[in-house]
Formats: sequence, structure tokens, C-alpha cells
Amino acid sequence: MKKHLLFLGPPGAGKGTQANLISELNSYLHLSTGALLRKEIDMNTNLGNQVKETINSGKLVDDELVLAIVKKNLDLNKRGWILDGYPRNLSQANSLNLVLNEINKPLEMVFYLNLNEEILVKRLLNRGRADDNEKTIRTRLEIYKETTQPLIKYYENQNILEYIEGDRDLNIISDDIRQKMAL
Ligand code: AMP
Repeated sequence: MKKHLLFLGPPGAGKGTQANLISELNSYLHLSTGALLRKEIDMNTNLGNQVKETINSGKLVDDELVLAIVKKNLDLNKRGWILDGYPRNLSQANSLNLVLNEINKPLEMVFYLNLNEEILVKRLLNRGRADDNEKTIRTRLEIYKETTQPLIKYYENQNILEYIEGDRDLNIISDDIRQKMAL
């Protein structure tokens, strides 16, 4: 069973939902940088105040800052983990590689969840998070295409990428992912 996973894909593809489901079923850690950042905002911490504007505009938070959050939350006592929303650009992917190589736990599988843009926008507008308004959604999708999408090729070249069609019932998607994890 694969234990060190990454969920990649555009905002609204269902990464968080699937990461939640699968991490619970397997007692894995679900590490979502977006969720951790939102928690900082909700708790009104210095860090939260520092990133609030960036997140609400749909832009990416500083690489160093996000890396520090990942390092702090990557609990090595867990059976496995699912990274969700990190890395989002090549520089973050390289930093992550270094961190994981240092602890001898490289990524074993990357699930790329995809959906067409029309459905993504519809889903995000229905979700109602603070950064789910039309203007911010457009920015997030643009940044995804420009800076995050190149990671698909990056992990494809490492032979660890698995494509997951996101326009299906969520239980069917999670069965598909779990089957591939067992390969
Ligand atoms: P998410 O919950 O993954 O959709 O992330 C929500 C927002 O948090 C993003 O639009 C970014 O502003 C910020 N964020 C989350 N993860 C990262 C990351 N890896 N690098 C930079 N910013 C991030």
C-alpha cells in the first residue's frame, strides 16, 4: 500500500474531499496547506493576518512560509500522509523533494484529479468559501494553469503520476484511488 501521496489538480476538483476520505480510511495524515492557512486566519494569528489578503485575492502565499508550515505539520509518526495543495509550483516541488529525501520517505504516488473548467467554476461558486468569489476564482485558475500545471509533467517524468477523472461520484473516485494505491 502506498503511504506517501500527493493530490494534484485545479481548485474545485475534489482534492480536499478525497484526501479527507482516504486519510480517514487509512489513518493517514491529511496535510492541506490551504486548510492550515485558513485556520491561522480564523485564529487571528500573526501568520493569519500576514496571509489573509493574499489568500482572499487568490494569489499564492510565499514559498518559504508555506514550506515552514509543511515541515511543522509533517508528522512522522503517522502511518502515511496525503499532501493536498502543496506543492503548487516547481520551486515548492524541489523543496519538498529535499525534505522527503532527507527523511527517506519520497512521494510514492501523485494523483492528478481533473475536471473541466466550467464544472470547476460552478462547484467553487457553490462552495462559498471566502476566496470563492468570481474574481478570485478566475485568478486561482489562471495561477493554477501557469504555475501548478507544469507539475503534472514533472511527476509524469518520475513515473509516479496517476490520472483520476474527477467528474464522477465521489465514492467511485475514492474506490479508484484506493485501488491504485494498492498497486
Ligand atoms: P486551497 O485550500 O488549496 O485551495 O488553498 C487556498 C489558498 O491558500 C490558495 O489560493 C493560496 O492563496 C494559499 N495556498 C495554499 N497552498 C499553497 C501553497 N502550496 N503555496 C502557496 N499558497 C498556497
